Formats: sequence, structure tokens, C-alpha cells
Amino acid sequence: YLDQQQQRLAPDGEPENSTGSAASGPDGDSAVLRSLDLHPATDPAAVSAAAEDFGGIVRAPPVAVIRPATADDVAAAIRLAAHSPRLTVAARGNGHSVNGQAMAAGGLVLDMRYLGPTMELVRDAARGGTAVDVPGGALWEEVLEWGVRRHGMAPTSWTDYLGLTVGGTLSNGGISGQAFRHGPQISNVTELEVVTGNGERVVCSAAANSDLFFAVLGGLGQFGVITRARIPLHPAPQMVKWIRVVYNRFEDYSRDAEWLVTRADPDACDYVEGFAFVNSDDPADGWSSVPLSPVSPFDPALIPAGSGPVLYCLEVALHFNHAERDTVDQRAGEVLRRLRYIRGLEFTVEATYVDFLSRVKRVEEAARANGSWAAPHPWLNILVASSNIVDFDRNVFNRILKDGIDGPMLVYPLLRSKWDPRTSVALPESEIFYLVALLRFSRGYPDGPAAAELVAQNREIVDCCRSNGYDFKLYLPHYQSDADWAVHFGRHWPRFVDRKARYDRLAILAPGQKLFSRSR
Ligand code: FAD
Repeated sequence: YLDQQQQRLAPDGEPENSTGSAASGPDGDSAVLRSLDLHPATDPAAVSAAAEDFGGIVRAPPVAVIRPATADDVAAAIRLAAHSPRLTVAARGNGHSVNGQAMAAGGLVLDMRYLGPTMELVRDAARGGTAVDVPGGALWEEVLEWGVRRHGMAPTSWTDYLGLTVGGTLSNGGISGQAFRHGPQISNVTELEVVTGNGERVVCSAAANSDLFFAVLGGLGQFGVITRARIPLHPAPQMVKWIRVVYNRFEDYSRDAEWLVTRADPDACDYVEGFAFVNSDDPADGWSSVPLSPVSPFDPALIPAGSGPVLYCLEVALHFNHAERDTVDQRAGEVLRRLRYIRGLEFTVEATYVDFLSRVKRVEEAARANGSWAAPHPWLNILVASSNIVDFDRNVFNRILKDGIDGPMLVYPLLRSKWDPRTSVALPESEIFYLVALLRFSRGYPDGPAAAELVAQNREIVDCCRSNGYDFKLYLPHYQSDADWAVHFGRHWPRFVDRKARYDRLAILAPGQKLFSRSR
């Protein structure tokens, strides 16, 4: 995690080494900053906040933080960086990366939360119907609130947690339980306004400047800063029936999960996810992580004798409006009858659509209260081909992670055909692949394990995938060397490099991804 100005944090949160205050900056950079008409914040509090992220593992102070109000401000900052010999620029969404991806060591951080204007309802010429134009720094929870409360409309594809920015998730993918059906968030955007690394402001879509449009989607912030995104809206359902069922055999779990995600409309569910959990009374990782309400607790007596150390919970949701209550019960009954879960271990609640989509907000509140929100988060997200997932379960969930991770271990299938191959995202080759998300919520050291131990465990898991020859890709990837990035992008690496040369020829943007070095 180290480079010249980037620091790895010791378990107590203090930098292990000190490379001097970035706010003082090299002389050349200070001169550029003085000429910047954007009121860059160089005060220690602003610089310190931009030097950290949700991961809490790396620290990289920028020379200044800029709060752009308009796309022109973003362009001005990028052009000024281009006139300096070494300044880089990182757009920072909500800083929810875990490996310093939104940092710019000794460079400029653009705090995208300040970007205007407000959201606007527009006609979507590309798909017909209605869409919303959203500033790149808007949070998904703001889009939900605005869409549902004001217009009764909402996007179809979400992330589990909505405290993420539109520009941040569109730079990665944006995955949740709707993606098997509607595609990830990058498949649900029809137009972008982008300021490229060359400082040009461009409106792009699948029909106009399409190479830039697809480059930026899943492009890890390498080609341009997303200043506006056009997201199609659909009538929002009023309610959600939310169901969880438990399995002790992974083969049954994955067969049912794959059956669910391959059902065609109108039989398709609205949301399919799932997770592995520990077969024990552990309060963070065990049986109690499954029930959706205290009125129906988990009865461990129902787990078949001889079950292994890990169990699986499949999670399904069906949308409905109040007038459709009878039909939704019927639909839920039909789905449950077909699934091979452990009878008796089914859990159902109803929630409003907004409450269902805001479910991780409640996790955040609990994690803030117990201190695990502020602790380091060495998270690992992997996309694993369906042909390897049973083996992955045996080697990873049932061996390396059999005692849990102090948080959710998501594992659910997605369909490659819902992702546009023209975007920059790297995916496994097979049509069905699983998202495995290891969302560690340990208490900070010394109350919990040292972050370095968990990082080492992540490395063991990735090594296991490599040595077994799995068809896999990291989601929210994090590599240090060109060789690793070339393997990650595979046959699309030359396209990625070519797009970089075209749209950010000095390699100014998103240096925290460790993909390219700034050139003069
Ligand atoms: P940042 O971390 O600030 O930025 C991420 C990258 O994008 C950086 O390289 C940055 O420079 C670049 N960037 C940011 N804004 C822009 C912009 N406007 N234009 C161009 N580049 C930009 N992901 C999912 O897919 N599904 C989930 O369910 C999910 N849940 C999560 C839950 C939590 C609690 C957390 C912490 C993360 C979760 N993520 C999830 C991961 C999330 O998608 C990434 O963290 C993503 O980076 C978005 O976070 P952010 O908006 O804070 O972006």
C-alpha cells in the first residue's frame, strides 16, 4: 500500500511513516494553487478528511481539497493540474472506497458532494419515458428520497447501501439484488456529462461520444469525472415482501439461487441475494443474523444433524402495491414451494419500498454505535464463475472463513448478459457468476483483530482462487503492478490503455487506483 506519499496505517490508526505535510506542497504546485480561483481548502481538517476513506487502511494527504459547484469548476481544476509538472486529481464521492481509490497523494481532491445543480426530471430520449438528471456527487439515498417522495418514481437498480454517490458507483458497477434482472447501475444510465482528464466537458451516451460513455462506466475514474448522470425512472412500488430461507447444503442453495435469477418475466422476483453465515450462536455471524423480525426467531433445532460449519440464507423480495396483497402472497407461496430450503427456517416481513431499500442504514446506525463503522474495513469483493462456486464454497467459506468475518459474507448469482461488454468493467467469462462480498465489521485493534491480519486473509483467498484456476475477477479491484492490472482486464487491457491515452493523456485522474503514473 505504500508509495512515496501514501501511508499504511498502523493498527492504532497512526501513520507508520511520515512523509511530511502535503498541505505545504512542492513550490511549483503551490504556485498553481494560488492561481486557482476555486478557493482550495488547505486547512488540516479538510486535507485530513480527504486523506482517509471507509477502508481506514491507507492514508494519503492531498495538497488541497476543491469543492466544485459546477462542471466548469471541475474542468478548471483539471486544466490547472495539467499545467503543473506533477499534480493529480481525484474525484471523491463519499469516500467509501476501502483501498485509497479516491485519494490523490500530494494532488487535488475534488469533493463531489458540493457539485450542483439539483436533480431534475427530464424526458429520456434514449429509452422513452422519464429520467432524472443527477449531479455526480448525489447520494443514491437522495435520488430515492427525491424520486419517490416527489414523483412516485425510482430507478430500478440499486446498491445495498445508499450512502454512496452516483459518480462513485457508476465508476465501478453498482450491484445489488436487482442486478440479475435489470443489470447493474452502469446498465441503467442513458447519458453522462463528463469532464475528461484532458479538461474537456463532453456529453456522451450510447449514441453520441459512445466510446467515452462506455469507457467511463466501470472505468475506475480513469477517463473523466462524471458531473451529471441521466437515470431512467419507473413507477415505484409501494411495498416489498421480503423473504429469507435457510440451507445447509451449498449445492441446493446455489441451484435454487440460479433457478431464481434465470426465471423470465413475469415470473422473475424483484430482488435475489443471499449470504453464508456461521452455524453457531455467534451474535455477529451466526443464526441471529438471519431473522427479519424479533417475532420469528431462528430455531437451531431445525438444522439437520451433520450440517457443516457454514449455512446459507437465500433472500428474495417481491414488489407490490396495497391493492395487490392477495397476488403477492400467492406469488411468494409459489416461489417458496419450489425452493429446497430447510422447512421451518423461512422468515418473511413486509416493508415499504423506501424502508426496504434503506435497510443497510439501520446496519450503519448499529455499527456506528458499537464502534465498528469507524474501525478499518479490509473488505474483499470477488466475482466468481458459477462453474467454480461450489469449489470456492468448500475452500473459502468452509475452510478459510468457517469462523465468520464479523459481518455479512454475501454470495449470490448475477448474469453476464445484463452487463454491456463495451463498458470498462472486467467480469468472469461465464454467463452466471457470483458476487462474493466479505463485508468485515470487526471492532478496531486491540478490541478486534489487527487490520493486517485480515488483509493477509484476503490475500490467502485471492491466492486460493488463483492457484485453483478459478474464473474470477475482483470487484472494486485493487492492484499495485501493471502486470496484475493487465491480468485483471485480460483481453480488454489494450482497450483500457488506449482509452487512457485518449481521454487522460497526462494520467491526471484517479491516482489512488494505482493504474497509471502522472506524466508531464
Ligand atoms: P469513492 O470511494 O469516493 O470513489 C470511488 C472511485 O470512483 C474513486 O476512484 C474516485 O476517484 C472515483 N469517483 C468518485 N466519484 C466520481 C465521479 N463523479 N466521476 C468519476 N470518478 C469518480 N458497491 C456496490 O456495487 N454494491 C453495494 O451494495 C455496495 N455497498 C457498499 C456498502 C458500504 C457500507 C460501502 C462502504 C461500500 C459499498 N459498495 C457497494 C462499494 C461502493 O460502490 C464503492 O465504495 C464506490 O466506490 C462508491 O463509493 P463512493 O461514492 O464513496 O466513491
